[in-house]
Amino acid sequence: MSPGAPAGPASDLVGPAASDWETVVGLEVHCELKTVTKLFCGCPNSFGDEPDTNVCPVCLGLPGSLPVLNEQAVELAMRIGAALQAEVRPSTFHRKNYFYPDMPKDYQISQYDEPINVGGWLDLPDGSRVGIVRAHLEEDTGKTTHQGAGGRIHSADYALVDYNRAGVPLVEIVSEPDIRSAAQARTYAAELRAVLVATGASDGRMEEGSLRVDANVSVRRVGEQRFGTRCEIKNLNSLRSLARAVEHEAARQVAVLEAGGAVVQETRHWDEEAGRTIAMRSKEEAFDYRYFQEPDLVPLAPDAAWQERAAASIGLLPAARRHRLLALLGQDRTGAQEDQVQSVVDQGLDDFVVAAVSAGSPAPLALVRASNELAADVGAAQRLEPSSFAALCKLEASGELTATQAKAVLAELVEAGGGDPAAVARSKGFEAMSADSLAGVVAQVVEANPDEWRRYAAGDDKLAGFFTGQVMKVTGGKADGKAVAAELRGRREQQA
Ligand code: ADP
Ligand code: MG
Ligand code: ZN
Repeated sequence: MSPGAPAGPASDLVGPAASDWETVVGLEVHCELKTVTKLFCGCPNSFGDEPDTNVCPVCLGLPGSLPVLNEQAVELAMRIGAALQAEVRPSTFHRKNYFYPDMPKDYQISQYDEPINVGGWLDLPDGSRVGIVRAHLEEDTGKTTHQGAGGRIHSADYALVDYNRAGVPLVEIVSEPDIRSAAQARTYAAELRAVLVATGASDGRMEEGSLRVDANVSVRRVGEQRFGTRCEIKNLNSLRSLARAVEHEAARQVAVLEAGGAVVQETRHWDEEAGRTIAMRSKEEAFDYRYFQEPDLVPLAPDAAWQERAAASIGLLPAARRHRLLALLGQDRTGAQEDQVQSVVDQGLDDFVVAAVSAGSPAPLALVRASNELAADVGAAQRLEPSSFAALCKLEASGELTATQAKAVLAELVEAGGGDPAAVARSKGFEAMSADSLAGVVAQVVEANPDEWRRYAAGDDKLAGFFTGQVMKVTGGKADGKAVAAELRGRREQQA
């Protein structure tokens, strides 16, 4: 670790000697598909049911049972492929053999050298692009819970296995090692999650294990072309854990290398409480799994028409939703507005904003009010008529309502599920101040604060805020901030 870097687990997200070392990350994201039934049997794919109730001979791996591929899972896998610009290919299934108590068959049916989706990329909101290696179909394992001693693996008294999850369809999305920081890893996972939800493939609930991330992390000296030896951190189930785990793992590797040691390729576990990664096992090689083709399943070859239907059925993706709003703002937009665009899309309020702009609202104002005021209760906001919201934004834009007044009217519109903003404003006694009476108030405030006025008149613009505050006090918030600013500037110019 570099001399200046804070030490200890509290040093969240502070880079290791950031100037000398570069972090390299490739992510493997396991996405549970939102199908009705499991991948190879008719058992319900449902989270949170009584343990071991959604099981049958097929997903329990009983002798003589035969898998039948779930059509909906194939459909959703192809949607994911389309959303990631991947090529859908004819594919096959393999048995990946390993022994683990939560896997009743002692092998997992997965796709190996012929996956359904190959190649592609994901564009991130920060403008970077992360390549996709593959996105293949496989079945999930059961779920083991460790009992006693705080539920930690190493000190548990015993373990319980729930086979409800065994056989649930997964798509595993493998990225290229294109990610260069913990923050970018987090951004990638967040964007991928949004894409998976938009396609209808996933419910995106990381807290329920619907999305689980394995992070492959290595470090190299800045300028070095070759990648360093990587470690794989298994089963990160929140964006926060992902970012913390990558940050800490990179720091650990830098410390090892700077001390003259070598990074050993291995699988590590992230200990959330301790804030560090722990060696779990040496990395398996493909030959450890003794892959062979699944003899009970035929090759999968979706025809072109089906592929086209799947691709056409995905909704507007988050990136397209952001571009749509950015286009409404035009070229000279601010960074703050770009953040508002991101948050409005994340909240699912972008259709609403687009409708409001079509109904005549200025785009910047619709964005501000949606990202600040409507985000508090998105459900209520979505019941609001876009035209009523647009009418409100127009009143604020024209100066007939101040920002404070507009927010108060908006709160009432949201509560009532719509209405005429002008009528609501009247009922609250909000009337626009005439230009004359505003000028009068400004004159009064200037006279009462001669020292401040001298400084403002001499060019100290910070005092504009002071005067605006005074005017708001006198008018009970009825004055329009922009009009006050204009009046102040006008007075100063006259005086000069
Ligand atoms: P495996 O199947 O053994 O896990 P892969 O070659 O398929 O190995 O890679 C798995 C993941 O590891 C991919 O997401 C890839 O981008 C990433 N990866 C490969 N090499 C490195 C490296 N040196 N540093 C960081 N990530 C890497
Ligand atoms: Mg791997
Ligand atoms: Zn079953």
